[in-house]
Amino acid sequence: MTAVHPKLIKSAINQTPMAMLGMLVVSIAFIVIFSRYIPLTVLAIWFGCQLLLAALRISNALLFKKCLTAEDEKGLVSNEWFFILLNVYQAATWTASSILLIIYAPQPFELVSFVVTIGIITAATLTMSSLFRVYLVFILGMMIPQIAIMFYYGEHQHIAMVIFSVIYIPATLLLSKSILNSQLSNIKAHEELERTAQAFRKQSFTDNLTNLYNRRYFFENAVNILLMANRENQPVALLMLDIDHFKKINDTYGHQAGDQALISVSQNIQALMRKSDILARVGGEEFAILLPNTSLDGAKLIAEKIRLNIANQPIVMDDIRIDMQLSIGVAELNDDNPTMEKLYMRADKHLYLAKQNGRNQCYPSI
Ligand code: GH3
Ligand code: MG
Ligand code: MG
Repeated sequence: MTAVHPKLIKSAINQTPMAMLGMLVVSIAFIVIFSRYIPLTVLAIWFGCQLLLAALRISNALLFKKCLTAEDEKGLVSNEWFFILLNVYQAATWTASSILLIIYAPQPFELVSFVVTIGIITAATLTMSSLFRVYLVFILGMMIPQIAIMFYYGEHQHIAMVIFSVIYIPATLLLSKSILNSQLSNIKAHEELERTAQAFRKQSFTDNLTNLYNRRYFFENAVNILLMANRENQPVALLMLDIDHFKKINDTYGHQAGDQALISVSQNIQALMRKSDILARVGGEEFAILLPNTSLDGAKLIAEKIRLNIANQPIVMDDIRIDMQLSIGVAELNDDNPTMEKLYMRADKHLYLAKQNGRNQCYPSI
């Protein structure tokens, strides 16, 4: 058996209690109506079988739930078989009720039994269509004995019922298939919507070119990290990085090569970061790195490591080799720079000084 979409299985699981309640209500109605013909002990045994079915169906639903949570593909397949067997069992109990009517009740109660079967099958279209194969087994298991009973009586009205079934069975199967298809297209539309929403969410906090965090996300997040660091008295440092003479790279190799260089530099810097650090592209060829739990001295070491790494790692594209250099401004959260705004201004000022002092360097340096 091939895998059924987990959401369809979920839908079948959710319908189970309602379906079983409906089945027991119909069973009780059957007992009440036919207790004047069928001996009570026979009815009690029959109802016991129905109760057992309800219990088994609930346990089948619980097992389905467990397998879905554990993503146990094998378990799901064997549960689907278990579900099919339970439907064969259910069809057998309703066929047994028809046989009881043949034995104990006068004619034309076999026709009532036929109508009850049609009613149960129709109701099951709502609860079982999400597992179409199971429903197919159920409808055939329910209807074939009824058709056989109609042939057994063979009178005009019974043959009319058989002809009615010839139209009813395919129509119900088509209805069930169309419910299944509409459920599937709903699921697909929902998944598509979820994917689009996720892409929008990602776009709202990442930079398209480098895939790094964008400026907005950086500042929103940085404010929270600074609040936490202030509360817990932990150091935080900020690095502002700017590629040196990047305009020249664009002018010499073209804008596309410039883009590729930006991507490579981003990746090289990211490879040097810790998980807790936040690296973002905050401008055209400008990056910012927030370093939680890092003092000024630690930040200077990290800045120098990044600078050297970029300076010693020329970017190779096709047959060109581009030397890249960075200037880095370093600042730490302290009484002079107690807010994100002040910390940013200080790091930016230090970046300016690094540029002024000749570029390809950090300010303050180690
Ligand atoms: P400095 O050393 O003073 O920083 O010089 P610079 O040339 O790097 O600085 P400037 O600010 O004069 O130029 C930055 C250049 O970065 C200009 C702009 O065309 C380029 N740039 C900005 N964003 C992008 C981008 O997304 N892709 C490419 N290829 N270039 C970009
Ligand atoms: Mg620059
Ligand atoms: Mg710049």
